[in-house]
Amino acid sequence: TKHFPVRRKLSDIFTGKRAVVHAVDDVSLTLRRGRVTALVGESGSGKSTVARLFAQLYPRTAGDLRLHGETTKVHGGRRFRDYVSRVQLIFQDPFGSLNPVHTVRYHLTRALKIHGNAGKNAEELEAALAALLTRVAMTPPERYIDKFPHELSGGQRQRVAIARALGADPEALLADEPVSMLDVSIRLGILNLLRDLKERLNLAILYITHDIASARYFADETMVMYAGRMVEGGDSESVTQNPAHPYTRLLIESAPDPDRIAGIADATAKDRGNGEPPSLIRPPSGCRFHPRCPHAMKRCTVDLPPRLEVGGEPGHWAACWLYDAETVAKEGVGSAAD
Ligand code: SF4
Ligand code: MG
Repeated sequence: TKHFPVRRKLSDIFTGKRAVVHAVDDVSLTLRRGRVTALVGESGSGKSTVARLFAQLYPRTAGDLRLHGETTKVHGGRRFRDYVSRVQLIFQDPFGSLNPVHTVRYHLTRALKIHGNAGKNAEELEAALAALLTRVAMTPPERYIDKFPHELSGGQRQRVAIARALGADPEALLADEPVSMLDVSIRLGILNLLRDLKERLNLAILYITHDIASARYFADETMVMYAGRMVEGGDSESVTQNPAHPYTRLLIESAPDPDRIAGIADATAKDRGNGEPPSLIRPPSGCRFHPRCPHAMKRCTVDLPPRLEVGGEPGHWAACWLYDAETVAKEGVGSAAD
């Protein structure tokens, strides 16, 4: 069944030298097996922090992280180790994530051994290695198994990084901008591989990206982050075709071509639109988007908007006062449908 492996409601606070930085605040996210959830936002929106918190790369300061409904400890213990092997992270940079002095065989063997999937003898290990490379379409495996990272292309390196994550036999993959550093021509191939793995292995995938068009193409569900908070979420089709939050609309309007084939936006094309994301050291009061929002009302500068149904597809919500009829009536502005 499509039972969810991960659920999280958290806020993470880093203590910096000069101030307390709320990198992410009250992010609530559920991943389900056999589904891709996209987390979309500009750089500095806190989306990578969410992935690292989910992967337990650094401890959370508040909130709750559950696997199959069971709370996971911040570190140590059987449940923590169990969690870490079931939830694997894939990084943006396949060049940095593989050790240049070690071969593909070394990286994959290590992953299989750490997670107890290396088999009982050398033959079983060899079969497990071949199976991993086959799963990421690096065939025949013997062509790649003894290569060093520098002997592979960027796309092949990312495939090895994905194979290494699969060595843990995970339930969830957290993919942080997995294609943004790769050549435009091979991005779609990697996204299609991830989608294929989702289906064949019934994985839950968290796809982190600044490229909302690729979310439309690749993700079942899309969540939009702004300044450390989630501002809109729902079915990908609904969020990208009928964006409700003014920030999501801005993201889509400023995409180079929203109908282009997904996954080919350039990493340098981020942070478009008018204005810059605010500092997380002193986030704006009320709705954090209000300094940039063309529809801002008085209430927006004071009160944090809750998640409100936007009246389209069921489950599509936006954290925006435009979807609160009482507020709109009181402020005397046009409705969100304008
Ligand atoms: Fe704009 Fe107000 Fe909605 Fe924030 S709550 S996005 S400021 S209209
Ligand atoms: Mg990032």
